[in-house]
Amino acid sequence: MNSYDICIVGAGVVGCAIARELGRRRWDRPLRIVVLERNQTAGMETSGRNSGVLHSGIHENPHSLKARLAREGSALAVSYAAKRGLPLLNTGMIIAVAWEDIRRGLWKEISSLRRLWFNAWKTQTRVTFITSSGLRTWEPNLHACCGIVIPNVAIIDPQAFVQSLKVDSEHTGSVYAFNNPVTDIQEDGTTYIVSTEHQTIRATCLINAAGLQSDHIANLALHADHYTIRPLRGEYYEVIPREKRALIGRLIYPALPPQATGKGIHFSPRPDGRLFIGPNAILVADKLDYTSHKTPPGQFIEAVQKFLPVLEEQDLRWSYAGIRPCVIAADGSKSDFIVSTDRADPPLINLVGIESPGLSASLALARHVVDLPCIQERFSL
Ligand SMILES: Cc1cc2nc3c(=O)[nH]c(=O)nc-3n(C[C@H](O)[C@H](O)[C@H](O)COP(=O)(O)OP(=O)(O)OC[C@H]3O[C@@H](n4cnc5c(N)ncnc54)[C@H](O)[C@@H]3O)c2cc1C
Repeated sequence: MNSYDICIVGAGVVGCAIARELGRRRWDRPLRIVVLERNQTAGMETSGRNSGVLHSGIHENPHSLKARLAREGSALAVSYAAKRGLPLLNTGMIIAVAWEDIRRGLWKEISSLRRLWFNAWKTQTRVTFITSSGLRTWEPNLHACCGIVIPNVAIIDPQAFVQSLKVDSEHTGSVYAFNNPVTDIQEDGTTYIVSTEHQTIRATCLINAAGLQSDHIANLALHADHYTIRPLRGEYYEVIPREKRALIGRLIYPALPPQATGKGIHFSPRPDGRLFIGPNAILVADKLDYTSHKTPPGQFIEAVQKFLPVLEEQDLRWSYAGIRPCVIAADGSKSDFIVSTDRADPPLINLVGIESPGLSASLALARHVVDLPCIQERFSL
């Protein structure tokens, strides 16, 4: 049976970022790290199925881990992408109120902008409030009466990002075991005995970064029903005609009330020049069902046509879906990221509910995990 110092379950952006961060630090000895992943390569689940936006964090409660780690992680990801030559599109983000919203009662949208403005002020994020004429200089074809612009928001290619983190961590000695779904976890007082369909390993520390399955992995390790993930599916349509794609160059989000389930269906340009519309947000039963239900394009057109009236249903083609691993709090709201040392000895760290903005936060989240006392006390010099 192979023995390791640290076993990470899940090679999404979070697992790969943690493996990379562990490999960058100095420890009392070279750490033996294994990443167990059920798919054939890294980033095949939520990490490869999102908008790729490096969020500022102002959509989140300013006191939350989500807000802090998104802000810090996005800055780290931008400089990481520049160093590694990864595709990155610096468009900034516009959160807009459409003229049409005025007819439906402006107060909800305006109060949403006020809340975002306040969050930005609290977190010292640079934003500018602009009226329709100002907005036209940023995005000439956008039909909107006002909005806020967050200039420092970029879009990354998520798959290239994850692959690069994986390669970095391999260079410092991490081992990836693909096609190895974890099926059982036992603990003998000093180590974890982790079984997959193909092997059993020992590890002194277990880090659960299993995304949508992080509840299942945590519950296996704790031998208790401690966590429940609610899968929230989001689909994307691609804008096909080249001339319509050229009409929008930036991230355009709607101003939504705080109780909305997501950040809203938005215009989502990508570093490769493509333009997508999405995602919607639907609670589903199956954590892996990406294709069986395709929401008709009408819902997407309804959400964005008010900003770009020339866009029509026939311009859109269904493209892909991603599933957010949400934890719903007792009051019905989505919970903050959960990063919990559920056992100190031997260390068990569960990362649960790492939904949006988890891609943005990943590099800062990795630092946060590696700085936890249970890791530092056990392995630091
Ligand atoms: C529609 C959508 C849009 C989003 N947009 C953004 C955005 O623009 N910006 C942003 O910052 N965030 C965004 N997010 C959130 C972001 O994608 C996630 O927070 C992030 O990818 C989570 O990464 P992860 O590594 O925790 O999970 P994952 O990528 O799901 O990785 C977990 C890994 O664990 C593996 N695994 C699971 N079970 C087992 C097992 N039993 N054994 C071995 N391996 C296992 C899985 O195969 C997977 O590879 C979006 C999410 C969705 C769904």
